[in-house]
Amino acid sequence: MSAPSVLVVGAGVTGLAAAHALVGRGFDVTVLDRGPIPNPIASSFDRHRLIRHHYPDIPLYARRVDEAFAAWDDLWDELGETHYIETGVIAVSLEPGDWTDRARRAMDEVGSAYEMLDAAAFAARFPHFAMPDMAYCLLTRRGGALLADRILAGYIRLLREEGATLVPNAWAEAVDPAKGRVVARDGRVFEADQVLLAPGVYAPHIFQDFVDVTLEPRRSVLLYAEPPARWAGHWSNSPAWVDLGSKDEIWGIPPLPGIPMKLGVGNAAPEGDPSGPRFFHEHEVRGILDVYRTRVRDIDDFKVVEGHCNWWTMAPQERFVFRNVERAWFLSACSGHGFKFGALTGRDVAAAISGDEPAQTVQERLAGFDRLPDAA
Ligand SMILES: Cc1cc2nc3c(=O)[nH]c(=O)nc-3n(C[C@H](O)[C@H](O)[C@H](O)COP(=O)(O)OP(=O)(O)OC[C@H]3O[C@@H](n4cnc5c(N)ncnc54)[C@H](O)[C@@H]3O)c2cc1C
Repeated sequence: MSAPSVLVVGAGVTGLAAAHALVGRGFDVTVLDRGPIPNPIASSFDRHRLIRHHYPDIPLYARRVDEAFAAWDDLWDELGETHYIETGVIAVSLEPGDWTDRARRAMDEVGSAYEMLDAAAFAARFPHFAMPDMAYCLLTRRGGALLADRILAGYIRLLREEGATLVPNAWAEAVDPAKGRVVARDGRVFEADQVLLAPGVYAPHIFQDFVDVTLEPRRSVLLYAEPPARWAGHWSNSPAWVDLGSKDEIWGIPPLPGIPMKLGVGNAAPEGDPSGPRFFHEHEVRGILDVYRTRVRDIDDFKVVEGHCNWWTMAPQERFVFRNVERAWFLSACSGHGFKFGALTGRDVAAAISGDEPAQTVQERLAGFDRLPDAA
């Protein structure tokens, strides 16, 4: 009997991780991407992505981060190298009920470890930040940078070694869930027993006829920069940050060997089209530096070495979406925080596709619910 087959549309972290897990479950796997593999315009593509336990309002995601670490550890074993750098992560609360304060409560609920620093202790330990208005800092020892582009390359290497078929420049345009069929823009037809659709920010085009959920493309601009020499020592031992106590959603990663520091801000202007050219404006660079000026010492002396514009997919309540329609499986595990769960998401999805776990159980787990609200 021949192996069951699966087509995976989308070679981002979730598609690749699922493809690898499906090979492990005995599937004959083909991965399609609309561009090169890996595709530099994928949400997954950058030098690194944060992994952290801070999850206000969705405690099950905070707990899932521990499972995500275990899934990544298994990948490092398979690859023979580790693509994770532990820096620790800080988040700063200004007042009760803000993002960090709610994250602390969620971490309490699931027993995640952290340390709390008051303003004086924080200033003594991390003088390169400047936040006299803080109530407290939440510091986790675990957490840091997943080296995203190296992880994608690692999955691609494993998939090739495992005999999976990788098809770049195969732009899936139509899906027939009953037949397990995908038709590409250039007319090629691909068929398999099952189809997994993990197209990232392009999901709305492919999901719209089959999945009743609103997915919105969101745009982010981020900077890579080098700190001035007088602060370089502090920055080289700095934790990453996920919230510096402002509405601007300030997050970033300190300088790492061979990688400049990353300065991110959450609420950049949502202009443009994810399929169009990737660009950013000088005023956006200034806007990011303005936000950091109130949080980081001497930001005007930092040297900006690169800027990036990328897109990600927002789902309701920032929860992940996973649905089954006949032979097709629709996956959007992003909402701007999906990379950290990539290896784990891939495993869970493979368990559902292979029938080893009920689809609804996996759907609930990926959405961060004990039980889906409408099934309760
Ligand atoms: C700036 C930025 C910062 C982020 N920071 C973090 C972070 O710190 N921590 C974290 O955990 N997450 C973070 N995220 C989110 C994370 O990167 C995403 O959730 C994750 O990478 C999504 O992976 P994916 O595989 O679902 O999608 P993608 O990586 O976008 O992959 C989808 C793939 O599908 C292909 N595709 C699309 N349409 C088709 C089609 N029709 N036919 C064939 N192929 C198609 C695309 O070319 C692409 O390669 C960030 C995202 C961005 C953009």
